[in-house]
Amino acid sequence: MISRKRVLVTGGAGFLGSHLCERLLAAGHDVLCVDNYFTGRRENISGLMGRPNFELMRHDVTFPLYVEVDEIYNFACPASPIHYQFDPVQTTKTSVHGAINMLGLAKRVKARILQASTSEVYGDPTEHPQREEYWGNVNPIGPRACYDEGKRCAETLFFDYHRQHKLRIRVARIFNTYGPRMLPNDGRVVSNFIVQALKNAPITLYGDGGQTRAFCYVDDMVDGLVRLMEAPDTLTGPVNLGNPNEISVRALAERIIALTGSRSRIESKPLPVNDPMQRCPDISMAKRELGWQPTIELETGLERTIEYFRKLM
Ligand code: NAD
Ligand code: UDP
Repeated sequence: MISRKRVLVTGGAGFLGSHLCERLLAAGHDVLCVDNYFTGRRENISGLMGRPNFELMRHDVTFPLYVEVDEIYNFACPASPIHYQFDPVQTTKTSVHGAINMLGLAKRVKARILQASTSEVYGDPTEHPQREEYWGNVNPIGPRACYDEGKRCAETLFFDYHRQHKLRIRVARIFNTYGPRMLPNDGRVVSNFIVQALKNAPITLYGDGGQTRAFCYVDDMVDGLVRLMEAPDTLTGPVNLGNPNEISVRALAERIIALTGSRSRIESKPLPVNDPMQRCPDISMAKRELGWQPTIELETGLERTIEYFRKLM
């Protein structure tokens, strides 16, 4: 028996948010999706329109919002470097003013609130793999700072509202996630490589491709996020959510070329400023406290994502 809740998802028309809305509706909840469509699209949620327990609202979270809900997933924020660096001041405002507004809302209606934080709070980490206790290595004035520092400040606000106002908070540190509905032009590595491979165009490898990431399929991620929201209130986090299987960006390129049967060649491009060399989550806490770990193999997830982009193109 599930108890039916009214759930607000900010950034609900985006990549992760739209999958989350679907999952929450399938579990029988009422979902209010709020988005300003900066990187989100109506098509992502077109399958949900018209459902009696789904509501869509155009709204920018940097402005206050007055609604009545039981739970809030705060996902509004562009996540790909191209988009968050397009208007960096707005990115910081979205993270910081957005957090203040959503925390204020949670305080007024006594809702539980979960923040979509990020592995970027660890910056270019000097500890490997990253545990939640690690404080990070972030350049506060670099081109990634609007995102990294914005998300770090949002975490600060979450914990201060928790201590000061006894708010029921959860903070998820999300590591690289991929899957259908990523934007084809958002510059993230999985979508870039798949789109390039399907066009038989050069695969743009930044640096020597020796930098590593660990990629989590979106269904696994959504499962972890929902478990965290449903966990006892004592589990505030931060909790790392991601796939602990690390792979170099070059090996990812080769895997995608093989899976798509592409004729693409790998082309070297300069490494972007402050691009982290290594990133991999330690997910012991999520395993222990949530009984969660990713179950979808990289190959399976990539096949599903390739299928999505094939249809899109
Ligand atoms: P996305 O860009 O697809 O989704 C973000 C959504 O937020 C979009 O629909 C966008 O239109 C909306 N948005 C942006 N600014 C807004 C504002 N001011 N008001 C209202 N809506 C606004 O990105 P995503 O990958 O789905 O990421 C969702 C969340 O998860 C983000 O907070 C991101 O930082 C976090 N995250 C994602 C990843 C990942 O690998 N995908 C990793 C770490 C953290
Ligand atoms: N990357 C790349 N080619 C691309 C896009 C990205 O080699 O066309 C690299 C990028 O430099 C980084 C890694 O892939 O080292 C992951 O990049 P992404 O932007 O997806 O995520 P993040 O850097 O935020 O982890």
